[in-house]
This record gives sequence, C-alpha cells and structure tokens, in this order.
Amino acid sequence: MQIILAGPRGFCAGVNMAIESLRLAIERFGTPVYVYHEIVHNTWVVEDFRRLGAVFVDDLAQVPRGSHLLYSAHGVSPEIRRMAAERELAVIDATCPLVTKVHREAAGYARKGYTIILIGHAGHDEVIGVMGEAPDATVLVQTPEDADRLSVSDPDKLAYLTQTTLSVDRASVIIERLRQKFPKIVGRPKDAICYATSNRQEAVRTLSREADVVLVVGSANSSNSQRLAELASAEGVATHLIDGPGDIDLDSFEGGETVVITAGASAPESVVQQCAELLVQRFGAAVESRTIRQEQVSFPLPKTLENTSGMRGQR
Ligand code: SF4
Repeated sequence: MQIILAGPRGFCAGVNMAIESLRLAIERFGTPVYVYHEIVHNTWVVEDFRRLGAVFVDDLAQVPRGSHLLYSAHGVSPEIRRMAAERELAVIDATCPLVTKVHREAAGYARKGYTIILIGHAGHDEVIGVMGEAPDATVLVQTPEDADRLSVSDPDKLAYLTQTTLSVDRASVIIERLRQKFPKIVGRPKDAICYATSNRQEAVRTLSREADVVLVVGSANSSNSQRLAELASAEGVATHLIDGPGDIDLDSFEGGETVVITAGASAPESVVQQCAELLVQRFGAAVESRTIRQEQVSFPLPKTLENTSGMRGQR
C-alpha cells in the first residue's frame, strides 16, 4: 500500500487563528469562556476545548451577563453583536478575516441599494451571519437551478457574494448562470472562494487521479471537508469522509492500494497522522507527502487578546 498525504491539507490560517484565540482566551480569562456555535466544525477540536472549559452555545441567552464570549471563525450577524453588547459580554472576535471581508461587502452593497445574491448553503453559520448584514436585501442561491429561477426587482443593481468554503467548480457554474441571466451583476469571480478551500480542492483533484481510495479527514458538518469528498468522488475514486481512524473500514482494503489522505480546513494534523499510522501498521504502507501548492498565510489574533481586559459590549 502507498499513502499519499495531499498538501495543502488541514488547518487554514483562519482556523489556526480561531483555535489559538480560544486557547489564549481560556488561559488569560479563565473558564468558562463561551463560544457562539462550534469554534470550527470539527468534533476533535470542539471536544478538546470542552474539556478545557469552553462552553459552546447556540443562543446568547445561555451566556451569563458580563461573561467572555468568543465568535467562531464563521462569524456572526450584526444582530448577535447587538445582543452581546446588550448583555455586556466581553467579546473576542475570532471571525476569519476572509469572512469579515464578505460581511463588509454585503453591508456595502446593501448601503448602495443593491440586491445581494449570496451563493451558499442554507443553515451554515457563515451564511446565517452574512445574510444578517442585510436580511431584506439578500437572496440565497444554493444551486444553478435556483439561479435560473431567480427574479429580482432591479436587475441593474445586483451583486453576488459567495460562502468561502464552496466547491470552486460549482460556484463558477452558478456565477456563470447569474451572469448570463443578469449581465449587469457585479462581484469578484477570481477570489470568490477562499485560498485555503481552493488549494485543498486543487490538491485533492490532482492527486486523486493516482488514487484507488481517497480518505478525507473531517467532520460530517464541515462544509469544506464535504466538498473535498464530493470532488474526489466525482473523479471516480472510492472516497470516504472520516472523522478519525475509528471510521476507517480496514476490511475494505486489500493492501495494495494507493490511498490519498487529505483533510478539511478544520481537521487537526494529529488525526491525519493517526489515520496514516493505522494503515502503516495494518498494511505496512509507505507514506509520501505531495504538496501541490505552498501556503504562507497567517492572520493576526483579535485585538482583544492583546490586553487582558476584553472589549465589553464591542459592536
Ligand atoms: S476556510 Fe477560508 S474563510 Fe474559512 S476560516 Fe479558513 S481561511 Fe477563513
């Protein structure tokens, strides 16, 4: 058996920043530190932080007045910021800057009177947050068919934005349909999807052509991990989205396969290594790393963590 570890894989700059922010917040402010939604969509990361004293909530009513509250990498709507201010919560904003950029664009378009087409998945934390910037001016489009069916009152004042973790290919199809239907629509086709999502998709697409099996390490609710699995599957390769080594069906291997292992942007490298190690032990697999594109992106920690007092009622 040969294992190819696809690169880049695993933690992106936004996830690194969010995880480090929560670790530092617990260290500096003590527990509990409340987190609005999961810090990132990964069961290992969430469970580790639960053990350290983080409390994950889906409703700010569960957070006692004056507590420390961290916003996850996926960001929050202005309404959540307003409620946090009302409850005098000390906010640590670990929203990924690339998500913040989408929020700013949504707010900017709405101010100028545009209707915003948000391409994304209903119910995803990032989508809920961005739609909250201009709920009355935003329409969610999930599929090319949604785009075909769309009707808007003023096609001359139309903008599109995308969830950062979509399939690059699928988003392009939807954007193209929107452009055909609404020639004056504005948006940024080149960096519609974030660098980490694009790079991980490019790597798995390229390497899956050599694979008999692709293992995508990531949790079932991780959007970018799901997209990696879909992409490898679309290349015609047997693909499994696995949370960790316990999900690997060892009996399905014969022992001579080439196995590509990748990981979604929220999946820890330690879990990837455990998965590879299991196949090494069982099948004597040889492990090789193959990096399609280098990444040197990092994001600064939230300003709140530069001093220990927190930003009460930050909006
Ligand atoms: S996947 Fe992209 S947008 Fe999401 S946290 Fe990572 S870098 Fe930020």
